[in-house]
Amino acid sequence: MSETCAHTSEIRKVTPSGKGCKECLATGDSWVHLRLCLICGHVGCCDSSKNKHATKHFHATKHPIVQSFEPGEDWRWCYVDEMFLE
Ligand SMILES: [Zn+2]
Ligand SMILES: [Zn+2]
Ligand SMILES: [Zn+2]
Repeated sequence: MSETCAHTSEIRKVTPSGKGCKECLATGDSWVHLRLCLICGHVGCCDSSKNKHATKHFHATKHPIVQSFEPGEDWRWCYVDEMFLE
């Protein structure tokens, strides 16, 4: 088992797609928390939100790493390794 994430090299300097979940804004839905894709800048809602667009974005694109898009939070999560990144 590897304890390090090999996907951090894929992280790009991204511009967030918007102030809210891209898909929820399009459909008028609501969310709980937001996650920012560090590969393309997609903003999606978290797994506590009913639509889980951040996770759906990972399955659709295989972009592995998201960062919290909540004020004051800067943790990162790798979906592939299922681990938080320092
Ligand atoms: Zn990883
Ligand atoms: Zn959403
Ligand atoms: Zn992405």
